[in-house]
Amino acid sequence: MAELMKLQVICPDRMFYEGEVSMVELNTTEGEIGIYPKHIPMTCIIAPGVLTITEAEGLKNAALHSGFIQILPEKVTILAEAAEWPHEIDVDRAEAARGRAEERIRTRDSKTDIARAETALQRAVARINIIK
Ligand code: ATP
Repeated sequence: MAELMKLQVICPDRMFYEGEVSMVELNTTEGEIGIYPKHIPMTCIIAPGVLTITEAEGLKNAALHSGFIQILPEKVTILAEAAEWPHEIDVDRAEAARGRAEERIRTRDSKTDIARAETALQRAVARINIIK
């Protein structure tokens, strides 16, 4: 049987996930990472993307937005600004957010905050990707 570690994903309004897992994959500001039990201690900044949780019973996917991750050999803790399971995602809202962000990036002017538009685009794409 695969080795397990504890995972907690904490959002401002709820404990999004708590369980024993064999692997966690997510996007950070340094790129995508995959974490197995016994990882060296590390902290990273989360970037919008897909969170994949591997449990003994199978895989769970969620959209995970900004926040922090603390990695310890036996336990991973994610403090996230927002996270959604596939059934919680409003596809039309995500498509509309993607359209707005793409339009801002395309027609950029001196007032456009490009970093903000790019992060909004990443959030929308993460939401759309997990329901496909
Ligand atoms: P929008 O422009 O549509 O508000 P956003 O990416 O700016 O999207 P966030 O600031 O990331 O929205 O999220 C605000 C709150 O709304 C969070 O609680 C988040 O979970 C929820 N939310 C945002 N978009 C969606 C969506 N498409 N489906 C379900 N919940 C969403």
